[in-house]
Amino acid sequence: MAVVSIVGRPNVGKSSLFNRIAGRRISIVDDLPGVTRDRIYAEVEIEGHSWYIVDTGGILPGSKEGLEEHITLQVRAAVEESDVILFMIDGREGPTPLDHEIAQILRESMHPVLVVPNKIDDVVHEDLAMAAYELGFREVVPVSAEHGRNLDELYEKVTRLLPPEPAPELAETVIPVAIVGRPNVGKSSMLNRFAGSDRVLVDEVPGTTRDTVDIMMERDGVSYRFMDTAGLRKRSRVRSRIEYYSTLRSYEAIDRSGVAILLMDGAESGTEQEKRLAGHVLEKGRGLILAVNKWDLAPREPGVGDRMTRYIRQAFPFVSHAPLVFLSAKTGRGMETIPAMITEVWENWRRRIATGPLNRLLQDLMAFERLPSNGAGRFLRIYYASQVRGAPPTFVFFVNDPEIVTRAFHRHVERQLRRLARFDGAPLRLFWRKSGG
Ligand code: GDP
Ligand code: GDP
Repeated sequence: MAVVSIVGRPNVGKSSLFNRIAGRRISIVDDLPGVTRDRIYAEVEIEGHSWYIVDTGGILPGSKEGLEEHITLQVRAAVEESDVILFMIDGREGPTPLDHEIAQILRESMHPVLVVPNKIDDVVHEDLAMAAYELGFREVVPVSAEHGRNLDELYEKVTRLLPPEPAPELAETVIPVAIVGRPNVGKSSMLNRFAGSDRVLVDEVPGTTRDTVDIMMERDGVSYRFMDTAGLRKRSRVRSRIEYYSTLRSYEAIDRSGVAILLMDGAESGTEQEKRLAGHVLEKGRGLILAVNKWDLAPREPGVGDRMTRYIRQAFPFVSHAPLVFLSAKTGRGMETIPAMITEVWENWRRRIATGPLNRLLQDLMAFERLPSNGAGRFLRIYYASQVRGAPPTFVFFVNDPEIVTRAFHRHVERQLRRLARFDGAPLRLFWRKSGG
C-alpha cells in the first residue's frame, strides 16, 4: 500500500490536514480494548485507492537536535519511505527560508511532491497561495485544512501520483510471511537464521515499490515469501532513527502477508507499539504467531517460561488464538519449529469447514446451551450457519434477532468453532444476520 507523508515546518497545519484525511479512515474491527490508536498514521481509502497517510509532525523532540535539524531529518526520512509527499506551507505567510531549505531536500530526491499552501480559507486568500510556486515545484494545491477547502482537488492529484498497486500474490503455494516487531528485536537475525540453514533455498526478489527486498525461501517443499520489514538492502542512518516508519513498514508487510510473526525481545515485550502491531494483524484478519526472541538471555530459573506466557497472554488478550513460541535467533533454539508452525497457521487461516458439521454444532448449541435473551423473554434463535469464506475464516449466522447476541455469546460460539476444527493462529470472523427462519 502506498505511503503519503505530510511534511513541513511546525504550525502550518499538518496535523489539521492529517485529521481531515484520517477522518475517512476505514476500520473493520472495533477499537480493541487496551490498544491505543496511533495518531501518526492512518489507512484511508479515497476514490478506490487505499493508502497510508503519515503526519511527520506528530512527534517532536525529545531528541537532541534543534528544531531545524529535526525537521530536516523528518523530511529525509519521508523522502526515503514515501510514495508521495505533501509539502505543506503556510499559504498566507508564503514560503519562509526554512521552507526553501525543505524544498531543496525534496527537489534533490526527485520524489513526487505536491506543494500544499494551507490556511487558504477564502477566495480572497488565493492570490497569496501563488507565492508557493517560488519553491520550484509544478504542482501546487492551495487548501484550507481547517475548513476542508479544495480537498477534492488534493485527493485527485494524490491519486494520480500513486504508484500502481502491486499484483496480488499469484501462486497460492507461496506463503507470504511478515516478520514484524520493534527495531532490534531480531527480525533480520531470524531471517538470516532461516537462510543460513542448509535445508533452504533463498532468493531475493524486489519488494514493494521502494527500496526493499523480499526473501523467497523453499524448504521441505514449501515456499515462503518473507516481506522485508527491516529494510534489508539498505539500512540508512535516517531509517534507524525514525521509528514510526519502521512500524509503517511492518503495517505494509502485514497487509501483504497471510501469516505474521510478531517478534518481541524477551527483555521487553508487550509494549504499546507491539499491541498496535498485533491489533493491526487482527484488523487485517491475518494469521498470527507470537514469538519471544532472545530467550538465550532469559534467567535460568524454574517457572520463567510460565511467567512469561502469563504475561504475554495478559498483554495480548485479543489474540489468544495465536500460538506463542520462545526462541533464540542467535543460538537457533526453537527456530526449527517455526517453518512448520507458519505452514500450519497458513492452513488454519485458509481452512473451510463444511456446512454439515457447522449446523450440527448449531443444533448442539440450541439443545444444550442457555441462549441469550433480550430481557423481555425473547430468546435468540439460530436458524442456519455457513462459512462464507476462508482467509480468514468467516462465518455467517442467520438468527431471529442479531441485537440479542451478546459479546459473551459471540466469544462462546467462537470457542466452539475452534473446537470443531483447527484454527490455531487464525482470527475468526462471525457475523449475525437477521432471518425470518
Ligand atoms: P502542524 O504543527 O503543522 O501540525 O499544525 P497544526 O495542524 O497543529 O495547526 C497549527 C495552527 O494552524 C492551529 O492553530 C490550527 O488551528 C491552524 N490551522 C490549521 N489549518 C488551518 C486552516 O486551514 N486555516 C486557518 N486559518 N488555520 C489553520
Ligand atoms: P532487527 O532490527 O529486528 O532486524 O534486529 P537484528 O536482527 O538486527 O538484531 C538486533 C540485535 O539483537 C543484534 O545485535 C543481534 O545480534 C541481537 N540478537 C538477535 N537475536 C538474538 C537472540 O536470539 N539472542 C541474543 N542474545 N541476541 C540476539
